[in-house]
Amino acid sequence: MKPPVFDYQRADSIAHACDLLAAFGDDAKILAGGQTLIPMMNFRLARPQVLVDISNITDRNQVTEESDGIRVRATSIQRFVEQCPAIQRRLPVLHKAIQHIAHFQIRNKGTIGGSISNADPASELPAMSLLLDAEFTINSKTEERVIPAEEFFITYMTTSLALDEILSSILFKEPPKNSGWGFHEVARRSGDFALAGSSAVVTLDENGKCTRARIALLGVAATPVRATEAEEMLIGEKYSEELLKTAAQRVQDVVDPESDVHVTKEYRRSVVEVLTVRALEDGFRRAGVAR
Ligand SMILES: Cc1cc2nc3c(=O)[nH]c(=O)nc-3n(C[C@H](O)[C@H](O)[C@H](O)COP(=O)(O)OP(=O)(O)OC[C@H]3O[C@@H](n4cnc5c(N)ncnc54)[C@H](O)[C@@H]3O)c2cc1C
Repeated sequence: MKPPVFDYQRADSIAHACDLLAAFGDDAKILAGGQTLIPMMNFRLARPQVLVDISNITDRNQVTEESDGIRVRATSIQRFVEQCPAIQRRLPVLHKAIQHIAHFQIRNKGTIGGSISNADPASELPAMSLLLDAEFTINSKTEERVIPAEEFFITYMTTSLALDEILSSILFKEPPKNSGWGFHEVARRSGDFALAGSSAVVTLDENGKCTRARIALLGVAATPVRATEAEEMLIGEKYSEELLKTAAQRVQDVVDPESDVHVTKEYRRSVVEVLTVRALEDGFRRAGVAR
């Protein structure tokens, strides 16, 4: 399959890309790694008149350590971030999640910002941005705004980005000390999109009581979702199998899965609860609970 005819513009910088988006208006679309956009054009599901290519901007791969987390330039390829020692040390759950994205050949082209902007609810990175309280920096020709990840995802493959805006960087926050993490997903084959997934970060005090919890789910609603009621059930509690099972049941409050050719919505509902128990088990264990 070949894409429909389009005009091609290569941006040297994010500012240049913003100028091009402002000039071409609704006809233009950002081309990052092309791992989703080009297949969509081939299938005639997208027909942009102009592609603004940001894959050649100067210093496209950039990871910067900040006091409260790690800032990733949106144009960074997924494989670069996966292999970054600072990510492995300070945000191991992000490192783990990226390894579940497709195959390394695709991660060598696909970008962090492309995956998040594409907002597929079954993708790993949108869920990671909720789990790690990420802040998104968004630029247009005229302004820069910073928003929390929760304000970004509207519905299936739809975000709060305006047509002339670019996601330029993502600040993933580092969880507090004494935190542990877990990430689990099910897919039909290694490298396939997840059928459902769950991730957790739990923080414990010196007595083993949970002081903070984050649970983010993928593939079970029109957007990635945080299970805040399940999180609240953990606060002030010590590890027990019963606690984890009861908390995981509360993810049912926020999931709204669909059936597709692969599995039924009932399967997704059921498996995400099991995956949440496993993610929490790992979280408590890594935070120091000995069992
Ligand atoms: C076989 C296959 C398997 C895959 N499996 C998985 C998987 O398991 N998990 C997963 O998460 N993904 C998977 N993907 C998708 C892959 O991760 C893509 O790389 C990613 O979704 C899109 O990133 P990209 O850089 O290629 O974006 P592109 O395809 O270039 O762009 C995607 C969309 O985002 C917009 N966009 C891109 N960058 C920006 C930006 N900085 N600001 C604003 N808008 C922007 C584009 O205009 C376009 O609408 C798979 C892809 C393939 C081909």
